[in-house]
Amino acid sequence: MPEPKRSLAGRTVLAIFAHPDDESLACGGTLARLADAGARVILLCASRGEAGSMSDPALVPDGDLGGVRTRELRDAAAVLGVAEVLVFDHPDGDLRWDRVSELHAQIVAAIQQYKPDAVITFAEDGLYWHLDHIGVHERTFTAVRSLGADAPPLYYVTIPPGVMRGLVEAAHAKGGAPPDSSFWGIAPDAFGAKAKPPGFVIDVRDWAPRKLAALRCHRTQMGPNNPIAWINEDEARRWLGVELFRRAPIETANGSVLEELADPIKSEDVRM
Ligand SMILES: [Zn+2]
Repeated sequence: MPEPKRSLAGRTVLAIFAHPDDESLACGGTLARLADAGARVILLCASRGEAGSMSDPALVPDGDLGGVRTRELRDAAAVLGVAEVLVFDHPDGDLRWDRVSELHAQIVAAIQQYKPDAVITFAEDGLYWHLDHIGVHERTFTAVRSLGADAPPLYYVTIPPGVMRGLVEAAHAKGGAPPDSSFWGIAPDAFGAKAKPPGFVIDVRDWAPRKLAALRCHRTQMGPNNPIAWINEDEARRWLGVELFRRAPIETANGSVLEELADPIKSEDVRM
C-alpha cells in the first residue's frame, strides 16, 4: 500500500520509550511508515539500557553496555528513518521511581521544542507489565496532560497477543532458539496479554523487513536465544506486520496524523 508521496510532510511525531529496542519492537513499522510519508519522527529514549542483557561480551569490550546500546539505538533509528534521537540517562530499571519530576519536565520540554502533531508511548500494560515501560507511560501521560487542551494527541501502542508465541514457534520450526525461548527473560505469552482493546491498527507489513532490520541493530539483545534472530522477512510480515494503537482518553488538540494511516480492526489483527 504505497503512501501518497510525502503525504505527511510538515507533520511531526514524537515517540517516547524506555530502552533502546522498545521503539523497534513496539512500533518500528509505524515509525518507518511515518518517515516514508514525509513526517519528521523524533524518538525519545529515557534510558541507555545499561541493565539489559548482553548477547555476547565481545560486543561490549569496554563494559559500557549503555554506550553500546545507545549506538545500537542510533543505528536502528537510521534504519527506520527517524530524524532525531534523544537519549536521556535515567537509570535503567528504576524509571518509575528515580528522578520522576525530571523525566516529566524533559518530556514537556521535548513537546514544547518539537511541537509534535502526535505523541506515541506505551499503553498502561507496558507491553508486558515492565515497570520501566509503565513508568514512561505514566510520565508521558502526565506530561501531555499538563499541557491542557493545547497538548498533542497521545497514542498508546500495544503488541497483539500471540505474536511473540508465533515468533518462538517460527524460530523452533527451523531449529533455532532453545525450547524455553524467552524474550529478554520474558515469557512470550506475557506480551500484549493484558492490553486494552486497540482503537485502530496500522498495517506495516510492507515495512516489516525494515522493522526486522532495526530490531537486529540491537545486537547486544539479539543472541541466538532470541527468536527474532531466526526469522526471515516473510515471517516478519506475518508476525510483526500489524501495530495496535489507542488514543489516550484525555482532552488534547485536534489531530489525526496516526489515524490517517489506520486500517479497520480485523479480528485476526488483535488475536493472533
Ligand atoms: Zn524496554
